[in-house]
Parts: sequence; structure tokens; C-alpha cells
Amino acid sequence: MPIHGAEMTEVQDPTTAVRTVDVTIDGHPVTVAEGTTIFDAAKLAGVDIPVLCHDERYDPVGVCRMCVVDTGGRVFAAACVRPCEDAMAVKTSTPELERSRATLTELLLADQPLRAEDPKQTTTADNLLLSLGDGFGLSRETTELPCGSGRGTDYSNPVINVNHDACILCDRCVRACDDIQGNDVIGRSGKGYTTRIAFDLNDPMGASSCVTCGECVQACPTGALTNKAIAGVPIRPRQELDAVHSVCPYCGVGCALTYYVDRERGAISFAEGRDQPGSQSRLCVKGRYGWDYTSSPQRLTVPLIRVESSYPKGPLSADVRGDGHGGTHNDRDRGGGKSTPDGGGPKNGRRGKDGRPGKDRGRKPGGLVDYGEVLPHFREASWDEALGLVARRLQEAHAAGGPGAIAGFGSAKCSNEEAYLFQKLIRTGFGTNNVDHCTRLCHASSVAALFEGVGSGAVSTTYGDVANADVVIITGSNPTANHPVASSFFKQARRRGTKIIYVDPRASVVADHADIFVQLKPGTDVAFYNSIMCEVIRLGLIDKEFVSSRTSNYEELARTVADYPPERAAQITGVGADTIRLVAKTWAEAGAAVVYWGMGISQHTTGTDNARCLIALCSITGNVGRPGTGLHPLRGQNNVQGASDAGLVPMFYPDYQGVDRAAAQRRFEEAWGMALNPNRGLTVTEIIKSVLQPDGVRAMYMLGENPFLSDPNINKVRKALSALDFLVVQDIFLTETAEFADVILPASSYMEKDGTYTNTDRRVQLGRKVMDPPGGARPDWQIVQEIAQRIGLAWDYRAPSEVFDEMVALMPSYRNLSYANLGLSGKLYPNADPEHSDGTIVMFDERFNTDDGLAHLVPAQWLPARELPDGEYPLVLNTGRLLEHWHTGSMTRRSFALDAIAPVAEVYVHPKDAADRGLAHGEMVRVRSRRGSIELLLRVSHREQLGNCFIPFHFREAAANLLTIDEIDPVGKIPEFKFCAVQVEHLGVAYAGTASTQSSHR
Ligand code: SF4
Ligand code: SF4
Repeated sequence: MPIHGAEMTEVQDPTTAVRTVDVTIDGHPVTVAEGTTIFDAAKLAGVDIPVLCHDERYDPVGVCRMCVVDTGGRVFAAACVRPCEDAMAVKTSTPELERSRATLTELLLADQPLRAEDPKQTTTADNLLLSLGDGFGLSRETTELPCGSGRGTDYSNPVINVNHDACILCDRCVRACDDIQGNDVIGRSGKGYTTRIAFDLNDPMGASSCVTCGECVQACPTGALTNKAIAGVPIRPRQELDAVHSVCPYCGVGCALTYYVDRERGAISFAEGRDQPGSQSRLCVKGRYGWDYTSSPQRLTVPLIRVESSYPKGPLSADVRGDGHGGTHNDRDRGGGKSTPDGGGPKNGRRGKDGRPGKDRGRKPGGLVDYGEVLPHFREASWDEALGLVARRLQEAHAAGGPGAIAGFGSAKCSNEEAYLFQKLIRTGFGTNNVDHCTRLCHASSVAALFEGVGSGAVSTTYGDVANADVVIITGSNPTANHPVASSFFKQARRRGTKIIYVDPRASVVADHADIFVQLKPGTDVAFYNSIMCEVIRLGLIDKEFVSSRTSNYEELARTVADYPPERAAQITGVGADTIRLVAKTWAEAGAAVVYWGMGISQHTTGTDNARCLIALCSITGNVGRPGTGLHPLRGQNNVQGASDAGLVPMFYPDYQGVDRAAAQRRFEEAWGMALNPNRGLTVTEIIKSVLQPDGVRAMYMLGENPFLSDPNINKVRKALSALDFLVVQDIFLTETAEFADVILPASSYMEKDGTYTNTDRRVQLGRKVMDPPGGARPDWQIVQEIAQRIGLAWDYRAPSEVFDEMVALMPSYRNLSYANLGLSGKLYPNADPEHSDGTIVMFDERFNTDDGLAHLVPAQWLPARELPDGEYPLVLNTGRLLEHWHTGSMTRRSFALDAIAPVAEVYVHPKDAADRGLAHGEMVRVRSRRGSIELLLRVSHREQLGNCFIPFHFREAAANLLTIDEIDPVGKIPEFKFCAVQVEHLGVAYAGTASTQSSHR
């Protein structure tokens, strides 16, 4: 019975029919599409052919010759590159073939390092070459062939070893780095025997432009590129380890990965990308190497209660009080515990028998909270005492001040189930909708605009759909830093012909890959996109049919954008009128065009207007609802989409059912068995302001949020947190915000519990428990339930899956999903048939989710930012993330690899701005705004625009949010993190520490 390639069964149209060929592989008949390689046909027939240089993810190159087969021709053929021919009879295993493979194997083994001479070779998790040698009974140790060596080693990367002697020049790493990740770091250098892989211009790997994604390590079939041990856990062969399939905990891309767990040591040995339609086995440095924070000795393991002598409340450490901010960026130089790759993380605060940080807990690594300074203000408590106190104090505040006195910040790092339970607790336990999370700080304005425009806050297509686009606009986003694996799909699409238009004030790495780079002035997006639409309309390139049948309010939009001809927009945006015309034409003439945007769009006081323009641009050109078209705000946190879906926002019950809509109200009152408050609650920023007002919020439950560093204008946040009557913080570390707490509850990291997470694509995936929480720490969902029970709610969830089932019953978008059918890859929602389908990629193919089914075009007038530069504060400050760090750094600064690569805070300044101030790269400078000042290193960067500077907000010792302004977008209530006026000036202090090790990707 011939076996057919799956792709052929769907071919119906004879004019487009795929031609097929019939072959036999070791006697098995197979019918495959013309052009199919012998290797792939053999796979279809269930026949394995040994390979070294080939991997199905890469274009075949046929250099190792290990996969040669006998096709009856004069010479053996490399199966990975040779296409099948009709009637071809292929033999994959004959004595001659085996002899050829054995000879090749022995020749390659002869140049391998002796295992005894390179202990790192013995820690190689997978070594195809050594396995082949074992199969043939061959090894370097026993071969009689002359042996070579001397091409050298390179251990300069914090987490990757390079042993050139073990390299067989198969180019898998080159293709992994270039073709898959699009990083273009690896090439070759040398001639003849001295040929070896080279990083950039033969630089040490650790000093090259390598971004430590580890894709090359995953690709290497020998011991040439191997992982170093992290946290002192040796890397053992995977067969000896427990494989736990989970999801990366960092960004909204939600890459699927597998943790290989050493159960004897109770720790992770290494992580690897796992195949899933969205991430396709790729990871970035955070996913692959940034997991060891979970085993940090600084994990909280016991409930803590503030001692009487530490009242009245206020910040406890010098940095958080404010007298330590500025100039303290280099705590390591004062004896701080820098992480070591083999030493199990920071050398401070080793745990005692009780699991708590021990005697030397006072030393702080890399600018984290000083446990020695803060912990004496708390005493240990039993769970019973701590939970009882939390319940009592929250109830007292509620009784005294009513529902408006209580507020909760949930976490986009927690699971969907935990987000659901948290908002349910606040709503049903305290009768208020004052519940929000960090979506308010990232894409609240995008969601507001999308709801208004298309009736749904989720993306209309996936980031992988870029492969089907002719043109993509990436705007207000630095995806190589913030969504690294998504960016690899963007770069890959460009190699296959998609044009990239990159619009951003900063010349981030994507600008290097762009066909058109538009470096507009910050805060001018509305003027730019209005002008693009003005030009599209002038050229007659709107999609008339789409506009008339699927949109409303076009005439008003057209009137508004007519005021933005390219010449006028050029004056506002600083972009040449010709460039505006070129972008308009390129976009409008594309058969399929898609826009991906980031927080450079949303984090403005005009964030909602910015997103409205993008929705209108896609709509008037008919670029929604088809493959390769659509709207995609790249979500930041791993579960910010899911937390929003689950109702962790003040205006919506789960699935965006408005709290002020009677039908939704009835539905949830019935489901939850009690009357609910029909008034919208306060947002994150409003809650902080409310605390400082009479009759405002008096008590807060803070689950996994750290507003002291993440919210704008920290001085105001400090006052608000100090003014609270009661604050309970539930977290895995002692955060800056926890210094203001009355009670601290030790929670679990995502590795210590089961739960679902929804990524930026709407993919719902299962995160599986890898290990137990340390000491007495507990899963967040259990803690929330314990509090609910103590305030009288009859909750009895026994597992996260029960919570998920309840959610799904109340959330039409998640209909049909269950733990049982999510599988290893998760599913996109909406999904009519999860047993058989991955879910919906492209939304709105026939109608939008608005009441009338139309896209609502909402015109916007350009407005300047709230605080413009002037003589005293002449530079515009932009804030954001680095590739290696995450938000307030509580996780990533406790990860050895991430902290080692990017250990210090820096301000990025254009070379001329630095020169005008007489400032030199690498010197300490002060950055001042009207709200505060910080001191940090200067990085002279060609990626900045003249008159602008950039500061990552991860570093407490140089907290960018001391500078930012707390003005908010009137609709989305999102702060203007991307624009305030500052000055950068001399400090006159020499820097003696270690700066970031890698530079060119910044
Ligand atoms: S770690 Fe990633 S960026 Fe670095 S060389 Fe390997 S594939 Fe390229
Ligand atoms: S791209 Fe995002 S989800 Fe993927 S590994 Fe990196 S941080 Fe994790």
C-alpha cells in the first residue's frame, strides 16, 4: 500500500495540481510531491537515515555526506538534498553505505577532543557524532587514525562553551543563527584545516554581537557548542533527566519549552525550545537561560508580618526611602554578591535550615532589595496567623470605608486561573471593581482603541502570519529586545520577500533589517499615520469595497486626515515628505499588509489615538481579515492577554463583558451567586492617586506587582504606598513594594504550579509544574482561595483545572477549551474544534465584533506630548526594556546569565548630544527631570535620535520611573512612559565596575 504525503490529499484543481512521483525506500512504496527529498520521503516511509549536517528546520546543504543512500547511480546520493525521481528505488542501508558512514564517522572522530582532556564534552546533553561512533564501535580514544587538534576553545560567553576542535563544520549553527534567528553572527574564518566557525570578525563569542539565544547550541550535533552549567547543576544527558513541557515565563510570545530536570538535585539542568506552531522550537536568552531565579536563595519561604516598632509605615531601605537613589548603581563594588555560573546564584543570603535567607542576607546582588536592611522590620508568622490577619484587616477597611476603600493589583505573570480567582475575590469579597494589573502600563490604550474599532481587544492575526504578508509595518516596538522570537519570524519573512517598514524614534536592531526605516520624532505618530492615510486617499488606493461594506465613519476620517498632507506632517514628525509618500504607496499597493505595534504606540497620552490611526490605516486599505493582514499589538508579559481575558481589569468581567452592562451583570451574579457592583472600578494609575485623596483606597492586596518601580513618578508612588492603612504583598521575592507591606505572603513561581497562560497570539498553553515551591511558599491560587474562605466565600477549588472549567463556562472566547485538549502546543482561541484544530489565526474575515459588525473608524487629531523639552530639560526621555531583563528586575537580576550580560543601568545618548555636553561613553552621569534625578552610566549610542535618550526601567539603583511623568491617556488611562523632558549632565565620578558585555545589538 503506497504511503502518500499529507499535502497531496488536498489537491483537487488539475490546473494547480502538485505533480507526484512514486519511489520505493528500502522496498516501501511511497508517493510524494515532486521535489521532495529522499530524506523526507524516507521519513514518510518510517525509515530513519543518519544525518549530521541536516535538520528539518534548516535548508539542507548536504555537506557531511552521512545521509548518503544508494539510488542505483554511479555514486551515492546525499538524501537530504537529492530530490526523489519517479520509479527511483532507494536503499538506505547496505554494507557499502555502512562502510562509508563508518569511515566518515571515524575521520570526524579523529579530530574530536579527548573526553578526558575536555571535561565539558562529557556534559554534552546530545552528541550525534559520539552516538554514531558508539553505534559503529568507534571513538577518538580508540581510533588508529592520526588525530588533530589545536583550533582552540572559547569560554567567553557566560553560558555557552565553544570548543572548535569538536566542530565538524556542518554549518548547522550558521543556519540556526542566520536563517532561524536572523542574528547573522556566525560565519567561518581560516583556511584548510584551520577553518573554524567565527563570531562576527572572529571575535570571542562573549564580545561579539551574539545575543546568547542558544539556537546554535540547540543545533550543534557535536560538543562544539554546549551549555555551561547554571546554578551549579551539571548538564547531564537528557535520557537521565526528567522532561517537563512548559511555557516560557517572560514575554508575550509564550515560547514552548522543555525543562530538563535533575530530580536527584531537585533542580533544572537545562532548557530547550519545543516545537509549537508559534515558536517552532526557538527561544531567546531569557527563555533558554533565565530560569535559575526560581532557585535563588533569596526566595521568600515564610509569611512575614511587620513588627510593631516599624510603624508608622514607610520605605525601609535607603534606596526606596529616596536617600539612596542616584549614584548607587554599582552595589557590587561595595561587596555585593555577584552571581557565579557554577555557584548557585548570588552568594548572599544562603538559606538556613528553615529555608530562609541566612546570616549574610544583608549583602545585595546587583541592586536588589537589601534583605539585611529590610527583613529585621518583619517577623516570621504561621500561614494561619498571616492569612487571618490579611482577611481581618481587609474586612475592617471594607467595613470602615466601603467597597471604594479596597483595591487589588493582580499579576500578568500569574496564570489565567489565578487572575480569574483574584478578580473574583475582589469583586465578590469586597463588592468593588477596583482590580487591575500591568496591562494598564502596557497596552490599555491599544485595547481601548481595538474595542472601539473592531469590538475585540485581542490581536486579529498572529505574529507568524507575517510570513503571508507582502508588507509589514513594525511601529513603536523594539521586538529584538522585547519579543525576540517574534522578531525572528519578522526577519525570516523579510528574507523570503516581505518588505519591512519600521517606524520608531529609535534606530533599534529591526531598523538594520528594514526596507524603509522611518525615524520619526517621538510623540508624532498620529500626524505620521494621518499623513499616510491622506496620501493613500489622494492616490486613490483605498479599498473601496471594504470601506463601503465593512467600515463606518469613513467620510469623517477622510476629512480629518486631509489636514495632514506630507509636507505638513514632515514638519511635525521630522520625516521627509517623500518618505511619507513612499510608505503610503508601499503599504497601499501591497496585496497583504499587516501592522505590529508595541508600547511606543500605546505608552503615550495619545496612545488610544495612535492605535486608532493604525486601525483606520488597515481598514481603509482592506488589510484586515485575510492571511497576512491585520492588527497585532505585541503584548508584553507572558500572560497579560490571559489576565485581561480573565477579567483582571476594572471595567470588564471575564471575556470583556462590561461590568456596567446589565446582561453581563446578571450573568455573573447568577454564576457567582451574589449581587455585584455595577460601577467601573479604578485603574492602576487611578488607584495610586486615590490613595492620596480623602475617602480613597485605604487597603490593597498586591499580587506579584511591584508598582514602586513599574509605575510612573515614583516619588508619588512612595507617598501613596506609605499612606495605605493596610497592604498585603504576595510575591516570590522581597520587592521594593514589599517594603511598604504590613504582611508579606511567600508565593510560588510559575514553575511550581500548573496553570494556563495566553500569549500575544491568543494561544492558550499549559504551564506544567516543574518542582515544589521552596520552604513554606504556596501556589498563588491556593493563597487567594484561603483568603476568600477566611472572608466567608464558599470556595472549594481543588485544582487549577477546576478553575479553568469555570472560566471557560463564562467566557465565550475560550469555549471548547479544556486542560485535556490543550495538548503540548496549546490552542488558539476562538476554537470551534480543539480536538482537531489549532484554532483561529485570522479574525474578522466576514464581520467585526462590534454591534453592527463594522470597523468603526475613529479620526484623531495630533496633539503634542504633555511635557515638551525646554532650555532646562532639553532632551526627550524614552523608557523601555532590554533583551536580557524583565520589568523591575526581580527575576532577571537574580538569573546568572541575564545579570552577567547586562549588569548595570545605562542611559543611551546620541553621540552629538554626548559631545555637546562633554560627556564620554562609560562615564557616570546624572539624569534629571522635574520629578527627580538618577545617576548611571552613559552609553553613547548611534541608535538614539539627536535630542532623545533612552533608559531601561529595570534597575532600582537608577530607577527610570523617578523621572517619568504620571500624565495618562484619557481613554486607556495609560501613563506617558515614552515621553518626558530631562537633562543629562556631568557627575564627575569615575566608574570602576563592569559594564554590559554585549553592545552592538542594543
Ligand atoms: S547564541 Fe544565538 S546569536 Fe549567539 S551565535 Fe548562537 S545562534 Fe547566534
Ligand atoms: S521570546 Fe519571549 S517567550 Fe520566547 S523565550 Fe524569549 S522571553 Fe521567552
